[in-house]
Amino acid sequence: MTACKSNCKNIATALEIYASDNKGRYCRNLSVLTQGNYLKTIPTCASAGKDTYSDTFQMQVNPDNFTYCCGGNYHAKAYSGFNGKPDNFPQYSAGQGLVDHP
Ligand SMILES: [Zn+2]
Repeated sequence: MTACKSNCKNIATALEIYASDNKGRYCRNLSVLTQGNYLKTIPTCASAGKDTYSDTFQMQVNPDNFTYCCGGNYHAKAYSGFNGKPDNFPQYSAGQGLVDHP
């Protein structure tokens, strides 16, 4: 879970560096980050055993923003006790940063 949150932050850092190299625009999908050496690989969520981020990634222009999450229900145990469904958390967006529980 901690690892998943730090994956989310690492992806965001790479996206911000990409944007600063590209007139403030984020890329359309995460694979652009690995092609341009902003990330070596798209990280894997340890709980899911796979990349849960790429499929959920969305970028937006005017205002420039991006969102993604750990897509699925891989952290249900860590989120027990919170109100709301544990699916698709943690989340990250340029506007809100890390949103780490429901
Ligand atoms: Zn995860």
